[in-house]
Amino acid sequence: MKIAFYLLVKGDQLWVRLLRAKYRWWNAHVSPTVQSRCTPLWRGVCRVWSDVAANISWNIGDGKGVRFWFDSWLGSIGPIVNSLLNGRQLVYVEASVSDMMDSDGQWRWHRFKSLLPYAILLRIATVKISSNAPMQDFPRWNLTSHGQFRVHSTYSVRMGVQFGPTEPLWKAIPDFKGIPRIRTFIWLACLGKVLTNEVRCRRHMTLDSRCHTCGFEVETIDHILRRCPVAYSLWCSLVCPEHLGQFFQLSFKEWIFSNLTNFGFYVKDGTEWELLFGSLIWLLWNHRNEHIFEPKKMHWEPILSHGKRLQQECRSLTILARQSSVVPALARDSIRWEKPPEGWCKLNTDGAVMGELGMTSCGGVIRSD
Ligand SMILES: [Zn+2]
Repeated sequence: MKIAFYLLVKGDQLWVRLLRAKYRWWNAHVSPTVQSRCTPLWRGVCRVWSDVAANISWNIGDGKGVRFWFDSWLGSIGPIVNSLLNGRQLVYVEASVSDMMDSDGQWRWHRFKSLLPYAILLRIATVKISSNAPMQDFPRWNLTSHGQFRVHSTYSVRMGVQFGPTEPLWKAIPDFKGIPRIRTFIWLACLGKVLTNEVRCRRHMTLDSRCHTCGFEVETIDHILRRCPVAYSLWCSLVCPEHLGQFFQLSFKEWIFSNLTNFGFYVKDGTEWELLFGSLIWLLWNHRNEHIFEPKKMHWEPILSHGKRLQQECRSLTILARQSSVVPALARDSIRWEKPPEGWCKLNTDGAVMGELGMTSCGGVIRSD
């Protein structure tokens, strides 16, 4: 996929010119095709092309290489043919973006105004083509915020894995009020980046994926934090018997999410449960590491009492943070408008944009005293 994307964006490089000339592929809007006696590289490009094309949008330069209806050039809206009003007939089907503008760079509204919703028309109105310094249209990769191709984002697409920021778990973890290193650990655990034996095996760092504590055949992060005998007996001593079934049946991410946000639903004394829960899974991970790497220096303190001590530290930290946040609030009160020097006027401006609709507004006030 990386090579397929670079075939679009690196048109000035020799290897791209060579490949495109060899297989006579000049039009980026036409899918490349497998030809007799083509190389495995070209076969691969043809195979993944539909995935690449589905994740590309265009930054408009001169608008000549982007199809008005069928290419994605209005950000997250996608191809605007999908927004066509019911019962309307498509016109200027093969028009490029520049075909819909006159020589002064003004939109030819009469060609499409009656076919699209008002919100889409507002978005179109925000796009301008500079006739002074014409640039080529440039594709960007939709799965990254900066538009550059990244293998990680591509892997998500190919595997059907959703790492989207909209998943509520990714909002719940930053809201965790505990010690920052525990928050980081929870984040890594949910991303599957903690070096358990399962992960180490996948990265060819070891051949043994078993749990060193109990001998279970695959040591996953879920196993260490929830199902290994040490963890299992700990949770059984804390969780109400009527909730034990649900507690152990949830998927790993659901389990983390519900314990960070349900505030003690599972336990008898749920006061600041999320702080104790975070501390305990952090200590279970440390316990596993001490067991493997420093068995002689194993922590003497039971995990539960150590966890309660950490919970207390987190609580103190929260109170401290709340107290310290009072100071900047007082400081903010002293910020005020100051009049300009004699003979000058001051212009204060502000603006706002309304999300997907793209409605914008701005204003300003000129004052001298
Ligand atoms: Zn185990």
